[in-house]
Amino acid sequence: MSQQHTFNLSSPALAEATTELLRELVTLSEASQEISAELSIDKLLQRIVDRARSLVGCQYAALSVIGEDRRIRSFITSGIDEGARERLGDPPVGKGILGLILDADQPLRLDDISQHPTSAGFPPNHPIMKTFLGISIRYAGKTFGNLYLTEKHGGGPFTEVDAQLVRMFAAQAGVALENARLFAEVQQQQRDAIQERLSMEAVLNSTAQGIYTLNADWRITRVNSHALRMTGKTADQVIGRPCWEVFPYQTTNGRSLCQSACPARLTIASHASGYIMEAVLPLNERPLPVALLTDAIHDQDGKVVGVVETVRDITQRKEVDEIRDNIVSLVSHELRTPLAHIKGFSSSLLQPDVEWDEETKIDFIRSIDHEADRLSRLVSDLLDMSRLESGRTVMRPEPVDAVGLVHSAIERTGNFLRDHVVEVDIPRDLPRLAVDPNQSERVLENLLENAAKYSPPNSQITVSARRLGAHLRLGVHDQGIGIPNADKERIFEKFVRLEQDKAFRSPGTGLGLSICKSIVEAHGGHIWVENNKGGKGSAFYFTLPLAMGRQRPPTSIRGEQ
Ligand code: ADP
Repeated sequence: MSQQHTFNLSSPALAEATTELLRELVTLSEASQEISAELSIDKLLQRIVDRARSLVGCQYAALSVIGEDRRIRSFITSGIDEGARERLGDPPVGKGILGLILDADQPLRLDDISQHPTSAGFPPNHPIMKTFLGISIRYAGKTFGNLYLTEKHGGGPFTEVDAQLVRMFAAQAGVALENARLFAEVQQQQRDAIQERLSMEAVLNSTAQGIYTLNADWRITRVNSHALRMTGKTADQVIGRPCWEVFPYQTTNGRSLCQSACPARLTIASHASGYIMEAVLPLNERPLPVALLTDAIHDQDGKVVGVVETVRDITQRKEVDEIRDNIVSLVSHELRTPLAHIKGFSSSLLQPDVEWDEETKIDFIRSIDHEADRLSRLVSDLLDMSRLESGRTVMRPEPVDAVGLVHSAIERTGNFLRDHVVEVDIPRDLPRLAVDPNQSERVLENLLENAAKYSPPNSQITVSARRLGAHLRLGVHDQGIGIPNADKERIFEKFVRLEQDKAFRSPGTGLGLSICKSIVEAHGGHIWVENNKGGKGSAFYFTLPLAMGRQRPPTSIRGEQ
């Protein structure tokens, strides 16, 4: 089937043939350059078929791309309009002629494809073909697919020159496809790497701990958002900076750790991993207490190439520790003081060689009794607090006369109020309260005791009551040291005692008011403190519910405080 060219060297036909060939070579070169510049695989495939068709001048061209299993993955056509393309039906199966071409080293040129013994394998509605030129596209032993051209313009068969042009073009197409494949692979790797970096960053940023990595020169190479928040800087400001500049850790006494005991250096020096220490990060007004966990980063040969440091803000834990220490020292002080007194007085009484007079004995015994009361009060406060907090204390409301409640509380606090002038300011004909009498009385007693504890002897303490809608507001007013505005809420928290009391040296655990708050709130009321109007000192108020069904309208509201 090959065509024989015989050239008459002197004929003008030779000049014409040479010019024609040159033109074709130029077209081939342009086509090759054009496809070499294309890196998008889809565009490249289309370009290859289009350029191959224009290179030899034919009606149709098609390119089949095969997968590893030699099955055709895509089928790209040129010269077939969209409608005809849709009507084509299933793509070729890669058998018959197309299968032959895949394995052939040379182009297959047919003057009439219908005469070929294996002309099957084309899409069912393929435009009618007669002349045919097909070739495989390969690069470095790898077959990408095949390219075929049919129906050469002018009705004649494809020539040997066509076949050679297409062979050279197919070789170029193989190179271009390999380039595009490699390019796509690199792009995919880059996309995967970016995706992995983003996922890693998302993981790092989702933890509530600061994390950063250092290289072997102690410079920061990576940092998560939590660590950045601790420094108040941006990633650009810290990446590449030495770690001691960005995270100047100190000991709790303000000594720099970076010189002497830098955790990163210690980790690298000792080849340790999981090195843990506590430090302070003095970056803001209030230095941040942190726990540091340092781990070495190794390369593939096991050499340490950097460290990763995890910084955890332990402010809360420190606060809890401090509160716990305070509670322990407060409670143990409150336990030890009365015990020491009891021990002292009882030892004195038991001294065999001392004869105490009756009055002193009674005095000692009274003191022992008083201190024992104090001890039992402390223990019951602690128990009550825990019961109230856990909801194990049940309030048993019943109709209670407010005046009776106030007088009973004053009477029971008698010992404490001995040195004070107590006034009661309660309107008559108040409706009754619907409260647990013991618990409500406890609130009043506690407030009265405090009023006495925190005000000078002979000063006045007033107990007031006012109706406020469905509630009665009870008040205990003293002329004592008062409560600073900043502490007015805090004093209702457990174990809170104010600094200012130190001068008073009054015993206490800071539990009384928090117990009052729990009791009042369990009744649906509120408790708060104000400055004592019209004098110094404080006024503690709390509300309790009135027994609504049986109530009478208030007859008077006197002396609103
Ligand atoms: P305690 O009296 O046992 O310390 P409380 O819970 O009853 O505990 O009171 C908490 C703190 O509130 C007290 O230590 C004191 O500092 C302050 N406080 C309570 N009542 C008064 C008051 N009437 N005047 C001034 N300060 C008071």
